[in-house]
Amino acid sequence: MAQHTPVIEIRDLHKSYGELEVLKGVDITAHKGDVVSLIGSSGSGKSTLLRCANLLEDSQQGDIVFKGEPVKWKGGGLHRRPADPHQVLRIRTNLSMVFQQFNLWAHMSILQNVMEAPLTVLDRPRDEVDHAARKYLDKVGIGDKCDAYPAQLSGGQQQRAAIARALCMEPEALLFDEPTSALDPELEQEVVRVIKDLASEGRTMIIVTHDMNMAHDVSDHVVFLHQGLIEEQGPPETLFGAAKSERLRGFLSSTT
Ligand code: ADP
Ligand code: MG
Repeated sequence: MAQHTPVIEIRDLHKSYGELEVLKGVDITAHKGDVVSLIGSSGSGKSTLLRCANLLEDSQQGDIVFKGEPVKWKGGGLHRRPADPHQVLRIRTNLSMVFQQFNLWAHMSILQNVMEAPLTVLDRPRDEVDHAARKYLDKVGIGDKCDAYPAQLSGGQQQRAAIARALCMEPEALLFDEPTSALDPELEQEVVRVIKDLASEGRTMIIVTHDMNMAHDVSDHVVFLHQGLIEEQGPPETLFGAAKSERLRGFLSSTT
């Protein structure tokens, strides 16, 4: 049944950089409205997994399925590549990514930053995109910063602009890669608040984070990645309250 088709499904994903095997068979599923958090030590493969999911990176084995549509591949193993550029574009624009370092364009105003991809990638009408961009900037609380340039904003404001930019693509899901890690503690919370709002609206999200409080509060499901494999996963209450894995308990005690 259509309503049970996951927005994104990753099955048995394997990814190597040369000799280095980073993902060794990972499965992740996010249904509509799910918030899935990915936690784990630095180097465990979290960013790689997100980048593979939206096809910014190639992977060598396993399936990536977007709304029931499996990515079509050509070649195999180290030569495996997506076969259909239109499919890649469709998936990438529907899984909007928010990065740790915001990645705003320094030479564009905040409004231009938010409008750029819907205009150039999706070819949507300018007046419609302008309206949507202002709406999303309002939503993240920086509607008054349309004409400012990124360098004039605090880190928290820049990250909120990056979230507005991702939302303006009207994606099926949002992928966050450590969205608060580059921020001073007092600015982190304004970004956490926005992410909590999005979660309560029923947005589908996969969030890589080392903010365990946020992961606890927003997630339906938490996945602990260890050296390219899922070591333990479950609802936040279980993962944070009654972890079975010694490694996960060690990881959690190191983060608090
Ligand atoms: P995490 O996000 O969990 O910290 P990453 O996915 O960034 O981990 O990295 C996983 C492993 O892959 C690390 O050992 C890292 O050094 C390696 N790695 C990441 N990106 C590349 C790359 N472009 N080329 C080679 N090795 C990489
Ligand atoms: Mg990372």
